Amino acid sequence: MSDCCSIPDTNTEKDELICPICGEKGRPVKAQTIRSLTKRDWENYHLIGNGFYCTNPGDSTVYYFSTMDAVVKKDDVVDRVGIKETEEPIFVCYCFRHTKSKIISDFKEHGYSTIEKEVRQKVNDKLCSCEVTNPSGRCCLGDIRKTFLPIKEEVVI
Ligand SMILES: [Zn+2]
Repeated sequence: MSDCCSIPDTNTEKDELICPICGEKGRPVKAQTIRSLTKRDWENYHLIGNGFYCTNPGDSTVYYFSTMDAVVKKDDVVDRVGIKETEEPIFVCYCFRHTKSKIISDFKEHGYSTIEKEVRQKVNDKLCSCEVTNPSGRCCLGDIRKTFLPIKEEVVI
């Protein structure tokens, strides 16, 4: 497995393209990630190349492309896409299946995130495969931190 936690860049001729459905700016994603996460029977599966990930929680579009008008909706994806869900399980870490509620309760219980520590160790040991499991194609550590940071600020140290 290549280094999935490096940020993909220069993987598309355009690295910024707004989502044709919601008009917000998405993030570039490699074709490998999109092919891994899109259902094989999606009608344009064979046309999938590098694309973009729509990060707007209010839009059910997951991937869109500069090369075709068709978009991949959350129902066309093989896994639950955490940022598009409002009910658990809301995955934050896809490789090790950590959900939002689990990350929050772990932080409250221990006063720090044992999950972040564990995932960081697994990333160091190259046991993660974010580029084929995480819809964003990126490492989840930043998202794990974003999940517990609001609670950290409530805890009196
Ligand atoms: Zn969108």
